[in-house]
Amino acid sequence: MNNYDTIIIGGGHNGLVCGTYLAKNGDKVLVLEASDELGGLAATREFAPGFKASVAHTLFHFSDKVAKDLKLASHGFDINTRPMANVSLNANGEHVILDGWGSSSKLSGVSEKDAEKYREYQQLLKRFADVLKPFWLKTMPRIGSSSFKENLTFAHLGIKMRMLGRKDMGEFMRVATLPARDLMDENFDSEQLKALLSWDGLIGSKMAPRSPNATILALLYRMSGIHEGAHSLPTGGIKNLIKALQGSATASGVEIKTSAMVNKITIQADENGLKTNGVELDSGEIFTATRVVSAIDPQRTFLDLVGVQNLEIDFVHRIKRLRCDGYVAKLHLALSDLPKFVGLDIPDGRMVIADELDAIEFAFDDAKYGEASKKPVMEIVIPSLSDPSLAPSGQHVLSAHVMYVPYKHKDGWTEKAKTQLYERVIDAIERHVPDIREKIIHGEILTPFDLDKNYHVNGGHWHHTEMSMSQMLMMRPTYEAAQYSTPIPGLYLCGAGSHPGGGLMGGPGHNAAKEIMKEKS
Ligand SMILES: Cc1cc2nc3c(=O)[nH]c(=O)nc-3n(C[C@H](O)[C@H](O)[C@H](O)COP(=O)(O)OP(=O)(O)OC[C@H]3O[C@@H](n4cnc5c(N)ncnc54)[C@H](O)[C@@H]3O)c2cc1C
Repeated sequence: MNNYDTIIIGGGHNGLVCGTYLAKNGDKVLVLEASDELGGLAATREFAPGFKASVAHTLFHFSDKVAKDLKLASHGFDINTRPMANVSLNANGEHVILDGWGSSSKLSGVSEKDAEKYREYQQLLKRFADVLKPFWLKTMPRIGSSSFKENLTFAHLGIKMRMLGRKDMGEFMRVATLPARDLMDENFDSEQLKALLSWDGLIGSKMAPRSPNATILALLYRMSGIHEGAHSLPTGGIKNLIKALQGSATASGVEIKTSAMVNKITIQADENGLKTNGVELDSGEIFTATRVVSAIDPQRTFLDLVGVQNLEIDFVHRIKRLRCDGYVAKLHLALSDLPKFVGLDIPDGRMVIADELDAIEFAFDDAKYGEASKKPVMEIVIPSLSDPSLAPSGQHVLSAHVMYVPYKHKDGWTEKAKTQLYERVIDAIERHVPDIREKIIHGEILTPFDLDKNYHVNGGHWHHTEMSMSQMLMMRPTYEAAQYSTPIPGLYLCGAGSHPGGGLMGGPGHNAAKEIMKEKS
């Protein structure tokens, strides 16, 4: 009865994507989700009576291929929703606004020179993003592999880069690991514009504008969607994406159980070595399967569910050393009325509070030493404007991603530390929305520590594990598990901790399913 071809642990979007591809390919699939709702960090939940929000609040690179393959449109998801304007807020109402995307985008609030330069910069980044785009949906070759097929991926990447031409190729190699600060200073004068354009390279990571590493690569990753990195709120909200994924999964025959916390991946040992043969829930219920696919983070998968006694010590060390501490907190406000932002008619864009690059850098400095930023920087959306079902009639939800807030507070995340953080965040919003306090019916702030506990993600990390050079591509999450298979035969990974990484994109779920199907055929 409880026997399946594939068990997926975790009903976040990647688990649902992977399970649906496998079910379409003929597998009998079971998805086990610990929470009572599907969607993981994108699940919509009530945070105050009548007010709902999801931790992930906008879409910017959900894969159009995944949407098409899984026929999400026929389950009510529209990937083409018009993107929102990006607004860099200024307390005097002198905002920098980037509306639309690509060559048709309109930039206002900056000099002619910056506006002209932006066009060149945007086209250059687009050419770079196009080089990388196909590889986000491909399995990365194994390091040291002599397989012709695997090495073909490297060759393909080399050809794509060569096709950029000598000048662009050189530029690509130069800027790929450049600190955001350098790239911005080379191109623009306006500090506000620099902060706005750097934001998507930094959010979700332990990196600030002056950190050399993967900021520009993260930016290019986020430009892989149909709107080239512009953010949107799908019709019906983020919950419509999860509903459509659930609809597609169920229509393909996937069985789904919520409130089903897996506490063990069962391992069978015989003369051929170890192999997984199923999972055990915390209720004691056992499910068996030919393969288990973990859509949860790598540390929880190996250290908690597999157990270090079943793994090589070097592998255990590498998993333990993964950088998984999150630095983004989530603010949800239940508001009695639409907030009035200084200098904005309707707050229907993505509003960024960081009016210069150093504001982001200084906010990071506090967090590096285990303190929440004294002057937090953030992005804000009002999701109830496009999805009125999130709040009672006439009332609204304000949703904000707040940086930088460390997973480990140096004095622990006490109620006092959380209240101090909440007050600092509201103070920062008040400079742009003077009457915000009068409109707040209820507010909650979720630190990365809370996200870890409530959403079952180690470190409460945006990408499950940092997207830094040491943990990207063929090293994600580590080189022994970067092709979705793991050192335990029959056990695979398909969550944000695998290539290409996190964000609501569906890449890891897609790639893991394709890899498993290849092995089966
Ligand atoms: C503060 C914050 C804001 C973000 N905002 C955005 C945004 O606006 N846009 C965007 O694109 N991305 C955003 N992200 C990133 C995005 O939400 C994640 O990268 C994405 O949700 C990862 O999807 P996933 O399916 O791999 O994992 P998850 O969404 O984490 O889902 C994993 C699922 O596994 C379940 N699970 C865990 N352990 C077990 C177990 N033992 N048994 C059974 N089930 C288990 C969890 O309950 C969860 O449902 C944000 C992330 C954070 C932290």
